[in-house]
Amino acid sequence: MRVLARMRRPSKAAVLASILLLLAGCGGEAEGGAGTAERGGGAADAGKPGVVASFYPLFFLASEIGGERVNVSNLVPTGVEPHDWTPKSRDLARISQADLFLHSGAGFEGWTDELLEGIEADSGVRVVEAGRGIALIPIDEEADADEHGHEHDGHGHEEGFDPHIWVSPKSMLRMAENVRDALIEADPANAAAYEANHEALAGRLRALDEAYERELSGLPRRDIVVSHRAFAYLCRDYGLNQIAVMGLTPEAEPKAQDLKRIVEFVRENGIRYIFFEELVSDRLARTLANEAGAETLVLNPVEGLTPEQEAKGDDYVTIMEMNLQNLKKALQ
Ligand code: ZN
Repeated sequence: MRVLARMRRPSKAAVLASILLLLAGCGGEAEGGAGTAERGGGAADAGKPGVVASFYPLFFLASEIGGERVNVSNLVPTGVEPHDWTPKSRDLARISQADLFLHSGAGFEGWTDELLEGIEADSGVRVVEAGRGIALIPIDEEADADEHGHEHDGHGHEEGFDPHIWVSPKSMLRMAENVRDALIEADPANAAAYEANHEALAGRLRALDEAYERELSGLPRRDIVVSHRAFAYLCRDYGLNQIAVMGLTPEAEPKAQDLKRIVEFVRENGIRYIFFEELVSDRLARTLANEAGAETLVLNPVEGLTPEQEAKGDDYVTIMEMNLQNLKKALQ
């Protein structure tokens, strides 16, 4: 709260930076930026529009579609699980100095509403919901469809919808269009480049979508047991059914009777794998798998990359390809 209060009364430095940024002409030919804008991710740098993404999937879209022509930064650092991340004052300054701020609009980043109230009054940043147009899945509908009766942790989900929209190639295709349109609006001079970059990315995402359609359609099993309830959109789009051990945030601890029911479900249905994710401890998934006579496999909700994945050059598409391989293994 202190951070937000401070944002409403921005520091002299932040005000000065926004004024200098306006003088430099956001997204225009700033003639080397006149050395005014702070260097670093997200700030307008040498006339390039500064784009701040709230977490990895949006950072990926903005980097791919913006290419060399924008200066993109990701608020959540590599290796950090983003559910409980909250912005610090330097992050708020970064957003208010940027030309474009991308957030999901689906409630994943629970801090955005209050933050944006503080920012919009004194910053020219353009705020875009990258998930606009995606039909959100109500949390209650999921609970009804799931006879295991999970408690839903409300953190970051006050609007009552499952926020994990990006965990499906079909959603990402829509989000990529929204990011393309936002970049063109912020920087119309480079529209042709953004169109071309978007087309290349959309080609990769369409190929991914087609692989999911083709390779999952013929498999006999449809139930996936996952540690973190992050796969509702994937399940909706490709006809699968998610049984989640934990809640919508990976740290939401399950109750003993829920665990018992899941172990029974796994045994009764001959489920061979329980999925866990890399940014969170796999202790619970391993214990459960052991108890139920199953094994564990990774199913990555692509909320962020690990430093190793980043170093290897993995991205949203390569991780979703690995997810598909593991899903096939589990559903055979
Ligand atoms: Zn999540």
